[in-house]
Parts: sequence; C-alpha cells; structure tokens
Amino acid sequence: MSNFFHTKIEFLKGVGPQRAELLQKELNIYTYGDLIQHYPFRYLDRTQFYKIAELDESMPYVQVRGRVRGKEVLGEGRKQRLAATLVDEAGSEMDLVWFKGVKWMQKTLKNHTDYIVFGKPTAFNGKFSMAHPELEELAEEKQTTAFLQPVYHTTEKLKAFRVESKTISRMMEMLLKVAVPNIQETLSPELIDHYRLMSKRDALINIHFPQSVEKYNAAKFRLKFEELFYIQLRLLRQKTVRRADLAGQVFKQVPTVTEFYKNHMTFDLTNAQKRVVKEIHKDLTAGKQMNRLLQGDVGSGKTIVAFITMLIAADNGAQSVLMAPTEILADQHYTGLKEFADRLGINIGKLTGSTKTKDRKVLHEQLRSGDMKMIVGTHALLEDVVQFQNLGLCIVDEQHRFGVEQRSKLWRKNPRIIPHVLVMTATPIPRTLAMTLYGDLDVSVIDEMPAGRKEIVTVHRFDSHRLRVFQFVRDQIKLGRQVYIVYPLIEESEGMDYKDLTDGYESIRRAFPENQVSMVHGKLKAQDKDYEMQRFVRNETQIMVATTVIEVGVNVPNASVMIIESAERFGLSQLHQLRGRVGRGAEQSYCILMTGYKLSKDSKTRLETMVRTNNGFEIADIDLKLRGPGDLMGTQQSGVLDLLIADLAKDAPILQESRAAAQRVLNEDPQLEQPQNQNILRHIKSLSVNTVNWSRIS
Ligand code: ADP
Ligand code: MG
Repeated sequence: MSNFFHTKIEFLKGVGPQRAELLQKELNIYTYGDLIQHYPFRYLDRTQFYKIAELDESMPYVQVRGRVRGKEVLGEGRKQRLAATLVDEAGSEMDLVWFKGVKWMQKTLKNHTDYIVFGKPTAFNGKFSMAHPELEELAEEKQTTAFLQPVYHTTEKLKAFRVESKTISRMMEMLLKVAVPNIQETLSPELIDHYRLMSKRDALINIHFPQSVEKYNAAKFRLKFEELFYIQLRLLRQKTVRRADLAGQVFKQVPTVTEFYKNHMTFDLTNAQKRVVKEIHKDLTAGKQMNRLLQGDVGSGKTIVAFITMLIAADNGAQSVLMAPTEILADQHYTGLKEFADRLGINIGKLTGSTKTKDRKVLHEQLRSGDMKMIVGTHALLEDVVQFQNLGLCIVDEQHRFGVEQRSKLWRKNPRIIPHVLVMTATPIPRTLAMTLYGDLDVSVIDEMPAGRKEIVTVHRFDSHRLRVFQFVRDQIKLGRQVYIVYPLIEESEGMDYKDLTDGYESIRRAFPENQVSMVHGKLKAQDKDYEMQRFVRNETQIMVATTVIEVGVNVPNASVMIIESAERFGLSQLHQLRGRVGRGAEQSYCILMTGYKLSKDSKTRLETMVRTNNGFEIADIDLKLRGPGDLMGTQQSGVLDLLIADLAKDAPILQESRAAAQRVLNEDPQLEQPQNQNILRHIKSLSVNTVNWSRIS
C-alpha cells in the first residue's frame, strides 16, 4: 500500500484524537490501511426478512421488520430491563428486551416507529423475543442503496463511546471516498487474468459495500486469494533461499540398504512407505540439505522408514541420530531400530537422562571416533559433550515438543556441513495447515496402513454400562489380551484428576482381583514409570491404568483394548492418538469411550467422529473445524494463523490455488525482477515494513 495508507487514523474526518486512541487500543487500527482492512464479519441482507409467524427457535440470527409499539422499564436494580413490543406487517407481535444500557435505550428507542431488528429469536410461553437485538430505523435504511450492509466488529468499550458498527461503516464510507484513487493493484496482471480476479480497488469497495452478491463473492475470493498468496510466496521463497544456500552431503552408496532389502526384511513395504523412501533418497542424493516432514498415522510404519534413512547415511560413512521427546519413546524407538540393526551387525546406541556415567563415556567415545553409526535418545543428546565424527542425519520425532533452539543445537553438531533433517510426526496435520505452517518444508505422507491390519472397533458407552464393559474386559483378558484404561489429566485441575485416577485404580483392582494392575502417571519418577511400563510390556500386568503419559508412541502389540474414561474431556486428535496405542498386533482391537449422559454438542461430534472413522487425516480436519487452527497447534504459532479474511478450515481450495500461483511466479521469476511482477515486489516491501517477523517454524 502506498504512503497514503500509512496516514494516521485520527486524520480521517469524523475520527479525531479520542476515537483514534480507542480504535488503536481496542481494534489495533492505527492507520488508514488498518481501517480499510477491518473487514465486515457479517452483512445484513436487506432482501431477507422473516415474518414473526415464521420464526422458530432453531434459527441462528434473523432479520425482522416491524413497528415498535410500547416500551417500558420493568424490574428493579440488577433485574431491571427494558421491554418493547415489535409488531410486523401481518400484525404478529414479539418482544425486544435489553438488560444493559437500559436508560440509553429507553431514551433512543422511538415508539411508533419502523425498525429493522436483527437478533436470535427465543421462545418463551409461546411468544418470541430477542435480547439485545441490533436495530436500525427503516427511514435511515432507505437512504442507503446497498442491500448487503456491512456489520463490523467493535467492542463494548467502543460502543460506550458511540463507536458502533454503523459508526465504523460511516468511517469506511468516508475513507473509501478519499482512498479509492490511492488503491494500488497488489497482484500481477498475469495472475489477475489467469485466476479471473477482481481488481484490488473493486475488491476493497465491494467487501465493504457490496454492489451485488456476485461482486461480493468476487471481492471475497480476491482478498482471500491475495492473503494466502502472500503467505505462500513468503514460505516458498524461504524454501528456495535455503535450497540455494545450504549444501548437503551426497549419499549415493546403498550396499547395506540393498542387502537389508534382499535378506533381512520380514515384510514388504507398503506403497506409501516405498514412495516416501524414494522421496527421501532423492533428497539425500541432490547435494542440498534435506528438510522434510514425515507425517504418518500411528502404526503406519514410520520406524522402518527412519531406519532405512539412517542406513543410507551409514552406507555413506555418516552418523545419524534419532531424538525423541521422552525416555519411554526413546526406548521404544531404540528397541524397534535395534531389531533391524542387529540383523546387519550395525552398532546402535541409546543415550538418555538415565544412561549411567560409565556407559555414557563409552557412547561419547564411540560417537567421536565414528565407531557408532546410529544413536537414539532424548535431550541428553544435545549436551555439548556429545560430539560426532561426522553427523549426517538428524531425525526428530514428535517435533512440536522440541523448541527451535533445541533442534538447532543438534544441527550444529556438524560444523562442516549441516546434517539432513527428517522430522517425524504421528499427529496428522490437515493439508491446509501443513501448507501454511510447514510450507517451507517438504512434506511426505504415509497414508496407508500395512496390509492385514484390522480396523480398531470403537464404541461409545455411558458410565451406567460400566459393568458390561468390565465383563468384556474380563473376557478379553481370558483370551490373553491386555488392556489400557486412561484417565484425563488436565493441568488446572491436577489435584482432582489425580484423585480420579487413584480412585479408578482402586476400583479396577477390586473389580479384577485375579489380575495384576499397573498404574503410570506424570507424578511418578522416571524409573518408577519405566518399571511399571516394563512390567506391562512383559505381560506381568494385564491392565494398565494411566494418564495421557502413554499417549505417544508406546507400543505393546498384545494390548488390544483401550478404555478412555471421561472421554468427553479429551480433544479429538488426542483421542485418536490414544486409540493408536492398540491395534498394533494381529488381534482385533477395541476402543471404548466412556462418558456420562451430559454431553455438549462438540463432545458429541468428537465421539461420533471417533466411532465412525479411523482415518487420522479426516479426524485432524474435523478437529481443525471444531477448534480452529490457533488451538490446534498451540498459541506459539498462532501468529501465523491470524488471518484477516481467509479461513484455513474452509478455504483449502483457495489455499491450493494460491500456492500454485506463488509457485508459478517464483518458477518464472525467482527474484521478482520482471516488469509484470513489480506490483508483487512493491507489495512485499510495504508488508515487511509493518508485519511480524515470519521466523521459520523449523
Ligand atoms: P509408527 O508409524 O506408529 O511409528 P511403527 O513403525 O511402530 O509405526 O510400525 C507399527 C508396526 O507395524 C510395527 O510392528 C512394524 O514392524 C509394522 N510394520 C511397519 N511396516 C510394515 C509393513 N509394510 N508391513 C507389515 N508390517 C509393518
Ligand atoms: Mg513410532
């Protein structure tokens, strides 16, 4: 945007210093540019009115036209309210009610006057009413020609100073009058042509004051496209910059990999695994540093892919590390990888917080000399004493549990040439989100389960059916299976949850006197946790009562039943992660979601989704829709997701197009030097003046 849009908001007619300060504080609107990007969150459609007789309580928000007949203040003190009657053309009546700002409404609401009211209808004693409806005098409305009227977000504080949606709308009209000649196109003529986009000028006019439904839709598309385009352009540029800058070791030799395939594999790779191995292999021979995210649902077989990647490194004289966020996970990875390494006589080690000093010394020595080719571990790997002869590959599991700082510590362990990086995650991230958050990483997906895996049967049972559930558990244990019973543990109510857990443990012990029961939770010391886990792994205990500490990675193939208590308190992705603890062996597995009868709408959706599907990506998509992207990834990354108009949960198709567009532009003109891309270059420069620092996610 040009300098014009950097003009301070107080200079706009009708704003002034006091309102300017409020707009800054309340809505972060400092300049003309900020105001023009304060898009309406909703519109009043002047063509859609309901008759009062047509209302029904399931309607979210409706618009009714009618005349105010009578208003009175009822009640005393805190119960005081203003009630008015609205009568529509057909003569039906409904009530309008205000509990706040009673005095002011009493003064401003005009009796015997026609209004358009907008609000949520509720029924009481057969009569409809609306609390705190939005109001507009019909006479006023007639003056405006727009039939889709913008509704702007404001705050209670702004309203107290008479800055309501309507006020902002008037400011916007004022602004557009002077702004229109200053609006510059921000996309190239090619893109506008190719994607049939509305011009920036028309888009800004029509997003605020739509001239028709078609124009409104075109404006919305154009602005969403632009917003997503610039995010993708930025990420893709970072990717190319890094590609150009960072050289990587070339891993061309694969003798041991070939031997492993020929003589030591006990199963065939799935097509998805083969494809991913190919993608990785291509990276490792390209001479550039690999930076790849590997997504795969629990049980999809990421371990073998990790091993083959490490083997490629080893075949080329390079060492590799696999770092996991917890000791239990590191153990499991180690066990999984060692099984393969042993067949080939490869020296693989494990280094965690509980590795004994004596063993540590040996490991350190072997890593420094290069005798040890592969090492699995936790944060302990990051310590400065851990040095390598030639670290060529870093694999990080469950990456969001490590900070960027921690990871880069690992990368720096090869001072000569930065190691290749493979980040593995079992938390499926919806494509739209992956593209936005990890748009500068290459993404591989294992989207296929090994053959012969039985789908986990998932059911929802109410607490009142507990006896039947227990009988089922007993039958499964008789068949030789093991069972997890998981309790929620949420930090704020830790004390209470802990009690739930221990009470649960006691009642399970009473209900299953003939079986051994383990208990694992976050308050146990690492050794004790480990000891209990190991007992369960060895089938010395049949039931594992636990909190979500067992959520990630733990692999006990003989465990075939997962019971989740108070399942309504878990997020969808978390439920899916927990379910992934079973279904790892040959037997039919079950997941039983226990809840009380009282369930919110979202909880019901979560439970129904779990029962309906085992597909992690589908679940992640629904989770995104239920929770919104901010929650999904934690606040740490939400800055990236503060979008003005696009919605990652809904705009996946636009995101895909805008990404393709960004790629096209960069392919043809990586430095944005050509004349047709000057709009884009200019816009990037103006963006970087006042936007957040788009630090790399990984
Ligand atoms: P995750 O992706 O959750 O880490 P794992 O790598 O632990 O999954 O694999 C889960 C189980 O599936 C392991 O027992 C593994 O040996 C087995 N497995 C992996 N790939 C295949 C395959 N292609 N065919 C059969 N079994 C496989
Ligand atoms: Mg795994």
